[in-house]
Amino acid sequence: MKAMRLFAPRQPLREEAGDPPAPAPGQVLIKVRACGVCRTDLHLADGELPQCRAPVTPGHEVVGTIVSTGARVGVPWLGWTCGACEYCNSGRENLCERARFTGCHLDGGYAEYMVADERFCLPIPERYGDAEAAPLLCAGLIGFRCYRKCGDARALGIYGFGAAAHILAQIARADGRDVFAFVRPGDEAARTFALACGASWSGGSNEAPPEPLDAAIVFAPAGPLVISALKATRKGGAVICGGIHMSDIPSFRYADLWGERRIESVANLTREDGARFMEVAARIALKTRVKTYPLAQANAALDDLRAGRFSGAAVLLP
Ligand SMILES: [Zn+2]
Ligand SMILES: [Zn+2]
Repeated sequence: MKAMRLFAPRQPLREEAGDPPAPAPGQVLIKVRACGVCRTDLHLADGELPQCRAPVTPGHEVVGTIVSTGARVGVPWLGWTCGACEYCNSGRENLCERARFTGCHLDGGYAEYMVADERFCLPIPERYGDAEAAPLLCAGLIGFRCYRKCGDARALGIYGFGAAAHILAQIARADGRDVFAFVRPGDEAARTFALACGASWSGGSNEAPPEPLDAAIVFAPAGPLVISALKATRKGGAVICGGIHMSDIPSFRYADLWGERRIESVANLTREDGARFMEVAARIALKTRVKTYPLAQANAALDDLRAGRFSGAAVLLP
């Protein structure tokens, strides 16, 4: 089989050929049908995630079929947890001290085959094709965990309108929330895309929304946006940071935080998040916009994501 692997940070992925991996007890061999390209993969390739190993096969938005049963499953970022630490024992396995993540500690889906712990695989609603389902596995899931942390916020701001935001905006809209989408100033394509996904307003991240936000989610990996979001959020509101890596947040006035505003990050996911999100995805017909690439063009997909050359999500097809 072929895999596109990262051998060292800041180097292009290289194709490697070999036998499919042998599943260990509890694992299943999966034939990969589609694998989404997440911004986390860019951080990994750029050496910004020292916790990840190299060489590694990236990819944690995997849709594939279990070879032994033919069942279609999704493989998300959370690949294994210890089941014994204080986090695992308190419903917070996303924070497990010994967690292993797909495409980080464990070889992921930039490959024709992979193995995964069956307990961490997720069902994929039938209504989605393989490529359309791939972005649900991280962009959808992490966005959903961020969304749940926003409580019943009606006016919801989203900073950075990529793969996660375009799925979340549709869920928020279906729930009767108003979405205010903030994009890179001057990025008309992103602005138009946000409105098409259900945002009721879209503007530059340097602009103020037409009304104060009840909560904001920051997907863009730019620390200064946390302060912009805080200033746009009303008293008692939350600013949720959805990325695994972000540039430093500059210092800011305490007055911007005061009034019981809070800043919180979202880290990883639990299996419960996965189950709940897939229920939502089965109920609401989410339209994911995907740009597909052959597996061998994984580097081009990463470059295009970095440069913002497409709207929505990139997906590799082995
Ligand atoms: Zn644990
Ligand atoms: Zn991801």
